[in-house]
Amino acid sequence: MSDTNPAKPLLLVAACALVDADGRVLITERPPGKQLAGLWEFPGGKVETGETPEETVVRELAEELGIETKVPCLAPLTFASHAYESFNLLMPLFVCRRFWGTPVGKEGQRLKWVRPRDMRNYEMPPADAPLIPFLIDLL
Ligand code: C5P
Repeated sequence: MSDTNPAKPLLLVAACALVDADGRVLITERPPGKQLAGLWEFPGGKVETGETPEETVVRELAEELGIETKVPCLAPLTFASHAYESFNLLMPLFVCRRFWGTPVGKEGQRLKWVRPRDMRNYEMPPADAPLIPFLIDLL
């Protein structure tokens, strides 16, 4: 049985597996001071009112990594769902293979391009880690 408590707020976060020409995926380190600091995650962020999750990914990749992509370049892959202590997270994961620019950590965060089969070597938030098999299968 799921431990998802319906009394907790639902947080919608959209995340992205950015894929390079060698089939590696970008993960980013959560900066100090943030919840889950030091863990490696798929880039993305909270879906704001009036946004589609795809629009969130386009905005967050520009803000966090300084790259441009477009909504039609994003393909939905799966959803993560996790009961955190103070909220329930629902997180669609999109795949993006077409983007413009070179990602840099605009908020000082470290970045790594990693093969999906090597992602287990990086500690990820509990919502992100179950997404790895989907990327291994895809790539
Ligand atoms: O990135 P931000 O802090 O806005 O995300 C809100 C929360 O969503 C985080 O504190 C974390 O618990 C969760 N999250 C996650 N995996 C991600 C992004 C966010 O579990 N890739």
